Amino acid sequence: MKQLKNILLDIKKLESAASVLHWDQETYMPEGGGDFRAEVLAYLSLMGHQMATGQKLKDELSRHIDYNSGDLVNITLSNEEKRLVELVRKDLKKQVALPDDFVEKMSKHTSATQQAWIKARKEKDFSAYAPFLEKMIKLKKQEAEYYGYEDKPYDALLDGFEPGMTTKRVAALFGGLKERLVKLVEEINSAKQIDDAVLQQSFNTNEQWKFGMKIAEAIGLNMKSARQDVSAHPFTIGLHPEDVRITTRLNDKMLLSGLFSTIHESGHAIYEQGLPKEQYGTPLGEAASFGIHESQSRLWENVIGRSKEFWTYALPLLKEHYPQLKDVNVADWYRMINVVRPSMIRVESDEVYYSLHIMLRFDVESAIINGDVNVNDIPALWNEKMKEYFGITPKDDAEGVLQDVHWSFGGFGYFPSYAMGNLYGAQIMEQAEKEIPELWKKVSKGEFLPLKNWLNEKVHTHGRFYDPEDLIKVISGEPLSADPFMKYLEKKYKEIYKL
Ligand code: ZN
Repeated sequence: MKQLKNILLDIKKLESAASVLHWDQETYMPEGGGDFRAEVLAYLSLMGHQMATGQKLKDELSRHIDYNSGDLVNITLSNEEKRLVELVRKDLKKQVALPDDFVEKMSKHTSATQQAWIKARKEKDFSAYAPFLEKMIKLKKQEAEYYGYEDKPYDALLDGFEPGMTTKRVAALFGGLKERLVKLVEEINSAKQIDDAVLQQSFNTNEQWKFGMKIAEAIGLNMKSARQDVSAHPFTIGLHPEDVRITTRLNDKMLLSGLFSTIHESGHAIYEQGLPKEQYGTPLGEAASFGIHESQSRLWENVIGRSKEFWTYALPLLKEHYPQLKDVNVADWYRMINVVRPSMIRVESDEVYYSLHIMLRFDVESAIINGDVNVNDIPALWNEKMKEYFGITPKDDAEGVLQDVHWSFGGFGYFPSYAMGNLYGAQIMEQAEKEIPELWKKVSKGEFLPLKNWLNEKVHTHGRFYDPEDLIKVISGEPLSADPFMKYLEKKYKEIYKL
């Protein structure tokens, strides 16, 4: 087992080095460095692929588990070790499923498609992008065939983001969400709107930075093992549980955007810091899924960060940075930061509308991969769904089908993770409320460690030991459902909008 773990650790070290370069690329690298950096990253990725599919790993793995049948060979393994070798086998099978020439073709086409997407979005011209997307879809369908699936091709792609998730399962979960969410949105839209003019003033960005860092530390981000920098799009990269990088964006006209980015990315980073160090390098030292990762960021950003209790603690601190807010009270502030407005753009969306954006994308991309949608019909399909879910129609493709980068890097199957994060997060939080005495009272006093430690124990330390749906069941005793999330939204927004 030690030999197997050592090989895995070597692969991880390469990945960690590549992550530093990615982080640098998004933060400090001079613009001219882009081309060579791409070459270096491609080379590291090739080395990693060679190690991850090499005979040495396969030989060591075969001492514990039969590569072809999946039957355990080593009968002395603990439960953890069993899961470990099963995951290594699963990952290896995926790595070798794609022929080398396919990987190369995909990698080249991804670069070309991303370039085409940037241009098309700028020029609001889907037709120039269509041939690139068409070829990408063909490649992704081919990829699904290489991986194999039981029911639908889209399932094979989903599994890369949410292990074990299927088209059918996501459709059932989103189905439970749709009706209640659309109804809530209608009620909010017909209610008296909230005046949030206070937020439209200018807020010094140095103070935004200082306040954000204060909050990140308060909720439990260990700054001995983390740092924050500025980037165009906020992100988190974990190099190791002892070295996690987050970024934020600062704009003096958008106080909330920078602040909530910092809280969101801190939630991701607290997860990365909480992963089991002794399993670093093995699959058990990794996050359970993209959706579980997103559950941690959204829980801190929305459920905690946009709560009245949180601002009972944080508003006086914010006023120290911005005396101009001295007359704002917690009740009004709470309503202002939770304003609900329909937006065409996913990344600008509030927590009520957000899941609708994702459901729309799931409908469209699962139809594309599982069915036979003509590429030229995709914008119309998008706009039709926009009308159905939001009651509005994008004025052009830039604020419609061209707004997200995901399809251009081949990320079909990625979108559902964002909404799954909301569902996982709400169900996890419901349990935390049951198990942590006076949780909300503690939050209102700025005592976040009971929740952070609880999440460490219930979610983070398990790494990838459980598939996401199993993890939720272990934590809450119940299968995953949309109900806790909808209950949370309905209770919160009925109060805020006095419905
Ligand atoms: Zn996130």
